[in-house]
Amino acid sequence: MDPQHVHNHIDGRWVAPETGRTRPDVNPADTGDVIGEFAESGGVDAEAAVAAAHRAGPAWRALGPIARAAYLRRAWQLLTERRDDFADAITREQGKRTAEARGEVDRALAVLDFTAGEARRLNGVTTPAEEARTFACTFRVPIGVVGLITPWNFPLAIPMWKVAPALLAGCPAVLKPSPLTPLTAALLVQLFADAGLPDGVLNLVQGDRPVGEALVAHPDVAGISFTGSVPVGVAIQRAGAPRLLRTQLELGGKNAVIVLADADLEAATDAIVHGAFGQAGQRCSATSRVVVDRQVEQALLDRLVERVSALRVGPGAAAETDVCPVVDGDRLAACLAAVEQAQTEGAKVACGGFAASGPTPGFYMQPTVLRDVEPDATIAQEEVFGPVLSVIGCDGFDDGMRISNSVRYGMSGTLFTRDPARMFEALERFEAGMLHVNRPGVGAYAHLPHSGAKASQFGPPECSPQVWDFYTEWRSACISY
Ligand code: NAD
Repeated sequence: MDPQHVHNHIDGRWVAPETGRTRPDVNPADTGDVIGEFAESGGVDAEAAVAAAHRAGPAWRALGPIARAAYLRRAWQLLTERRDDFADAITREQGKRTAEARGEVDRALAVLDFTAGEARRLNGVTTPAEEARTFACTFRVPIGVVGLITPWNFPLAIPMWKVAPALLAGCPAVLKPSPLTPLTAALLVQLFADAGLPDGVLNLVQGDRPVGEALVAHPDVAGISFTGSVPVGVAIQRAGAPRLLRTQLELGGKNAVIVLADADLEAATDAIVHGAFGQAGQRCSATSRVVVDRQVEQALLDRLVERVSALRVGPGAAAETDVCPVVDGDRLAACLAAVEQAQTEGAKVACGGFAASGPTPGFYMQPTVLRDVEPDATIAQEEVFGPVLSVIGCDGFDDGMRISNSVRYGMSGTLFTRDPARMFEALERFEAGMLHVNRPGVGAYAHLPHSGAKASQFGPPECSPQVWDFYTEWRSACISY
C-alpha cells in the first residue's frame, strides 16, 4: 500500500477506482499538510467489492468461528506492534490528541480480544421436543455479505467493532469508511491482509454517499451496519425497507450530565470538561448538556468557566494541547453557527464562542460554554458535534430528569449525586442506553453493549454478545431418530 495514494482493496488487491477520481485527505491541524490522494469511488466499485465478498463467502463460512478467531488474534498481535503508526495516522487525519488516538487503538485491541474469545461461545440451546425420539435445538448462522458504513470520529475503533464481529460470525464484508479518514481505514484493511485473511473476505471501498447507497441497494448485501448521523441512518432504513434489509444503525446523541445540589462539584467539573471537550466534543456520547440544580448552578459555572478558559487549543500531535481541532471547515462553520443561533434564542456565552488560532492554519474552535440555555432551545435539542457545552438550570432531581429526557436522542445519561437512592432511580428513569453515575459520561467497554435509546439507535447494539443478533440469524432444528 502506498500511503500517499490509497486505492480500494478488493479481492485481496489494491485497485484504483473505476471512476478514476480521487480526493485529498487533509490534516485538520494544518491544512497545508495533504496526507494523500484517496479513491473517490462509485457504485461500480461497490459492486466489484460485493462480488468479491460473495465469492469468498462459502469458504469463509465453512471454516467455523474457532478457526476464524485465529485471524483476529493475529490482527491483535500486529495492531499491538503497529500501535504508534495507527495513533499517528488517526491524529494526522482526524485531528484528535495523540493520547486520545492511543486510547482509540487500545479500544480496538480490546474489541479484537473480546471478539476472538466469543468464538467458543457462539452457541444456541437444546430444548425438549414434543415427540419421542426427537432432538430439538437452535444455532446461529452468518447472515451473509455485510456492508459496514462508518463515520470519521473514531476512524479505527468503529470500523473495528464492525469488522471483527462480522469476520468472526462468518460474514464477508465491504467496509466503506468516511471520506474524511481514509488512511486509517486503509491501514486497518492492510492489517487484516497481513494477518493472512483470505482474499475477498474483507474489502475496502473508499468514497462517500454513492458508495454507501450502492451497498444499501445491492441485493447480495444481507445487512448494513451503519454509524453516523440520524438523517443518513433514516435514508438507509428507507432505501433498504422494500427488500427488508437487516440494519444496525448507531446514530447521534444530545447527552446530559445532571448535577444535583449534593454533588461533588469538583468531580463533576472534571467529568464534564473531559466529556464535553475531549476529542473536541466529536463523540456520539459527548457531554453536550449540563442540567444543574439552580442551588449550585453558579458555583458549577464558575468552576467550568475557570477550567475551560484555561484549556489550550492546538494540534493533536503537540504534547501541550488540551483540545484538538474539529475535523474540517464544515464542522467548524456548523459549530460557530450553532453558537450564534443559541444566542438569538436567549443563551449567553460564558466562555469561548469563536474560532481559535493555532500554530498552523487549521480548524480550531475555542471550547465554548453557553449559559442560560432554555431546555427547548435548538442548541439544547440538536447535536452540535463540537466543543460546545450548554448549561441548563433545573429544580431538583425530577425536573433534571425531565429536562434530560426531553430530547429525541438517548445515547448516554450521567448523574452526579451523593444520594444512593437517586443513583438507582436514575438508572430506571434515564431514557438513554449508556448510563454513568459520578463519572464521565463517555467511554465504553468492548463487552458492554454500545446501545442507545430513542433516535440514537435502531437494531441490535454493537459490541458485547448482543452484536451476534445482527451478524447471525437463528435456525431451529428438530431431528427424529
Ligand atoms: P454521516 O451520517 O454524515 O456519514 C456517515 C457515513 O455515511 C459516511 O461514511 C458517509 O460517507 C456515509 N453516507 C452518507 N450518505 C449516505 C447515504 N445516503 N447512504 C449510505 N451512506 C451514506 O456522519 P459523520 O458526519 O461521518 O459522523 C458524525 C455522526 O456520527 C454524528 O451524528 C455522530 O453522533 C454519529 N456517531 C454515532 C456513533 C454511535 O455509536 N452512535 C458513534 C460515532 C458517531
